[in-house]
Amino acid sequence: MTACAESFGYYLKSRLTFLINKTDSTWNSMSYIQVREDSKLEIPDDLTIGFIEGDGIGPDISRAAVTVINSCIELAYKEKRRIGWKKILAGDAAFEKTGKHLPQESLDELKKCVVSIKGPLTTPIGEGFRSLNVTMRQYFDLYANVRPIRYFPGVPSPVKNPEKVDMVVFRENTEDLYAGIEWRYDSDEAKKLRWFLKEDFQVKLTDDTGIGIKPISKFKSQRLVRKAIQYALANRRKSVTLVHKGNIMKYTEGAFKEWGYDLAATEFKDQTIREDELQQGAPAAWRVVMKDRITDNMFQQVLTRTDEYDIIATTNLNGDYLSDAIAAQVGGLGLAPGGNIGDVYAIFEAVHGTAPKYAGQDVANPTSLILSGGMMLRHIGWTEAANILEEALTLTYADQKVTQDLARVLKVKALSGTEFATEVIKRMKVP
Ligand code: NAD
Repeated sequence: MTACAESFGYYLKSRLTFLINKTDSTWNSMSYIQVREDSKLEIPDDLTIGFIEGDGIGPDISRAAVTVINSCIELAYKEKRRIGWKKILAGDAAFEKTGKHLPQESLDELKKCVVSIKGPLTTPIGEGFRSLNVTMRQYFDLYANVRPIRYFPGVPSPVKNPEKVDMVVFRENTEDLYAGIEWRYDSDEAKKLRWFLKEDFQVKLTDDTGIGIKPISKFKSQRLVRKAIQYALANRRKSVTLVHKGNIMKYTEGAFKEWGYDLAATEFKDQTIREDELQQGAPAAWRVVMKDRITDNMFQQVLTRTDEYDIIATTNLNGDYLSDAIAAQVGGLGLAPGGNIGDVYAIFEAVHGTAPKYAGQDVANPTSLILSGGMMLRHIGWTEAANILEEALTLTYADQKVTQDLARVLKVKALSGTEFATEVIKRMKVP
């Protein structure tokens, strides 16, 4: 190794140690985001961001992601801007310390920070506590789950033309079957509901039937579609597709579609156009095209007519399935970022789970959380840093520097999560 390469290696190592130490919650002189009366955010240059490490692989990928995010901020703004990471307890770590998985103090801290980022948290199936993710989304009214999904050249994909994928899914986050209105078949509530349905509506359910309720409201559907259209306009995207199962569930899924179209026609009259109007010859110049598709058809459309889809607005359960299926086309969940965004608060997160079998080994792929950090930087208006981050990640994948999940498919050497972060940082440059 040359002296020059050695000294660069030493520089990088000491830089990384310094940056990793910055995740310490003792970072001083941090300012908090201020929320103005019109709900707009005032972002200080010396900014506190809430930070939940997460369970399982959470601490590993969080460490890597924070290092990468700190580096791109430093490169973009030198000493002018920086993030102080406020560690907030949730999940197993919180339970060990407080006996609660999501103590009130943590909710208060998330509120104070306004914008936060989190690693994955465990949700036991069946019995046990309610999903912490769902609790946070409902507590802070984070009604839009936003997932941008696009392809990074070099990443192995199961489809022929993954480069055609460039979609952003806006999934309603607070109602539908995830609202948690559900009872076990033998509970008093289920018995009462079955009796009520039989007596008042002549709907007969057998005694072994559990019941879940699917609420979909006009207000919540329209605010989600509004956010999707605003995003399409701000980012000069071509279309917004309302995805629904309205042929079967007319008054919930079907209503979502109708309310979505109504909103576009009233609030965005001059900026949107319906696909059927377009087909009749109306001019499309500078307008966002509003389409709708039935969910099952949409699953094949994203595979067969991939580049015809752009922004997708959909109900909760559809969005859950669809966003994972689209992410699979570009290499899987490990590469898809996510943000839970409301009118004031936002929590960005890795969209995959805790992958317990890889916990503590520094082998997991931190890309999803790194990209969620990029989304967060765009959300607070630190676009230059986000561009540096995404460009460096693109170069890293193009050079086939990958963690074990992709290395075994590409048949190249697997990097640890920390080594992967180092490779990303090495490729950062000011445009
Ligand atoms: P998972 O995402 O943890 O794992 C699915 C598969 O993907 C596994 O094979 C895993 O090894 C692999 N994988 C996931 N992330 C990876 C990464 N970054 N790098 C390399 N490989 C990765 O899903 P699961 O096993 O269904 O769930 C485990 C736990 O995570 C459950 O308790 C579940 O509730 C929770 N979960 C949390 C979130 C969240 O906090 N947002 C999301 C999904 C699941």
